[in-house]
Amino acid sequence: MKDQALYMHDSYLKEFEAVVESVKDEKYVVLDKTAFYPKGGGQPNDTGTMIKDGQEFPVVFVGKFDNKISHEVSVPGLKAGDKVTGKIDWERRYRLMRMHTTAHLLSAVLHNKSGAMITGGDLDTEKSRIDFSLEDFDRGKLDEYCRLANEIIKNDLPVKVSFMKREEALKIPGMVKLAGALPPEIDEWRIVEIEGVDRQADGGTHVKSLKEIGQIEIIMVNKVS
Ligand SMILES: [Zn+2]
Repeated sequence: MKDQALYMHDSYLKEFEAVVESVKDEKYVVLDKTAFYPKGGGQPNDTGTMIKDGQEFPVVFVGKFDNKISHEVSVPGLKAGDKVTGKIDWERRYRLMRMHTTAHLLSAVLHNKSGAMITGGDLDTEKSRIDFSLEDFDRGKLDEYCRLANEIIKNDLPVKVSFMKREEALKIPGMVKLAGALPPEIDEWRIVEIEGVDRQADGGTHVKSLKEIGQIEIIMVNKVS
């Protein structure tokens, strides 16, 4: 899957050529390779279009099924063997990239300062939710962590993607921050690192430097006990 998933290697790939491997029920399309991100790991799926001979097939959902990336198109007509051009909705994706890197940065600051673990979350284009387990709930402290995260953004650190054998990755403390995020059968892990700040196993798409995030703002804090 790593080789099929172009977004794992290049998050900035907006357009690509691919061959249709299979089509199920006229609408579930598997390609030999794809830049479309499938919903998972807290990050929503990409949308966009597939184009064949000038005809557009809108991609309305992308998911992972049986270890394959499946694209749901809203127009029938694609067949196995077809050559298509895939175009992802870049505005949506780029917002999600910025959100995803923000989530890593904020959780790294929280984890370093308070020992908090991420328990879940929901990234979206306008605002995102991150769940933490905190010992004590203090809005003032959270604002301070947010301020610290914004300070780190100013340093404009690079965000790097690499691959590592599972056994090696497991030896590094803190590599898995979100429990159950990666299935154990994957023997090579993808590592996303905000240089000097955070390093974790992750399948999502990220910006390549922190300045692309912009400014982080906490809109709302809820205590769930
Ligand atoms: Zn992540």
